[in-house]
Amino acid sequence: MQCPNAVPECLIDRNRKPMSKILIVADVKGGEVRKSSLELLGKAAADGLTAEAVLIGAGVEGQADVLAGHGAAKVYVADDASLENFAVDRYTAAAADAVGQSAPDMVWLSASETGKALGPALAARMEAAFVSDCIAVDLSDGEVVVLRPAMATKVIQKVRIKKDGLKVITVRSGAFDAADAGPKPADVTALSIPEGDGRIVVKEVVQEQTGRVDLGDAGTIVSVGRGVKGPEGVEFVRPLADLLEAGYGASRAVVDSGWMPFDLQVGQTGRVVSPDVYFAIGISGAIQHLAGMSGSKLIVAVNKDPDAPIFSVADYGIVGDLFKVVPVLIEEIKKHKT
Ligand SMILES: Cc1cc2nc3c(=O)[nH]c(=O)nc-3n(C[C@H](O)[C@H](O)[C@H](O)COP(=O)(O)OP(=O)(O)OC[C@H]3O[C@@H](n4cnc5c(N)ncnc54)[C@H](O)[C@@H]3O)c2cc1C
Repeated sequence: MQCPNAVPECLIDRNRKPMSKILIVADVKGGEVRKSSLELLGKAAADGLTAEAVLIGAGVEGQADVLAGHGAAKVYVADDASLENFAVDRYTAAAADAVGQSAPDMVWLSASETGKALGPALAARMEAAFVSDCIAVDLSDGEVVVLRPAMATKVIQKVRIKKDGLKVITVRSGAFDAADAGPKPADVTALSIPEGDGRIVVKEVVQEQTGRVDLGDAGTIVSVGRGVKGPEGVEFVRPLADLLEAGYGASRAVVDSGWMPFDLQVGQTGRVVSPDVYFAIGISGAIQHLAGMSGSKLIVAVNKDPDAPIFSVADYGIVGDLFKVVPVLIEEIKKHKT
């Protein structure tokens, strides 16, 4: 059976180099394209690929210029008040419309909450191959080979995706570098606003207004574990995160103890993060915690136990009492900031 959004034959350029065109489904939060989407554009540019992007939401069209500035040759936009809240049926229909018009070799999405829902739905709609949660993508030799953590990061899978047909992948934030680029006028194609099937309607998204740096967007994260001993310990370390303008996360032991809220838990059953720098303060480094942060580019661990497993993944390890080490770190960082 032909799928409803199959790429029309007239749009397929049979002489095109294999794997030359990528469609990036942009992730938007608070009206702005997230860094993870700009990282995908950065990867496409670094690999010499043509990148197009699709923007879906309410009041998002202005973000097309941001995507163009980061290398999107064309931006497909579905901008309508009715798309304010993510709805998998309507977002899938809009993304599928963009795929039909763009005729890409691959579709890349961030492995965010939205991407995790939209990626498989879009792949199913387009009868495409799908791989989730990639941390590396190699397109040399006209093949697509990706790396992805599996089994709570105990193993890294190397997955080769079959050459023919559309491929859809989700990619963890932090896997690639975003270019430092300003906006430029985008070549915008308006998509028709999709009707939903009405089976699921998101009425409202209630979000706590915390003013915190979101862990998913943070370039630096400071996380605390049971070693902080209690809520006072959480507050003791917080100035380090504030000074670094970092996200402030926690191990499950801290969350289970009620010292920090669940949305700040890093790990297998919490957030999966891959910032440039991750500070693990008083965290043992259980496999379930590593599953959420071992993709960080640089890991700094502070623990009084020299045999703590966290040191096996740390780039820099400080063996010592966090209540003595953290004030020293704060003082030293302040010196470098002034
Ligand atoms: C199904 C399942 C899912 C899970 N999901 C998650 C998850 O998503 N995220 C997660 O984090 N965990 C998860 N866990 C729990 C995980 O197994 C660990 O229990 C948890 O990560 C331990 O947290 P912790 O390192 O803070 O505490 P602990 O293991 O108690 O470690 C505390 C560390 O602090 C150090 N310390 C103590 N005092 C000091 C001091 N003064 N100065 C410096 N260091 C000090 C100690 O040496 C120790 O290494 C999961 C477990 C299961 C079974």
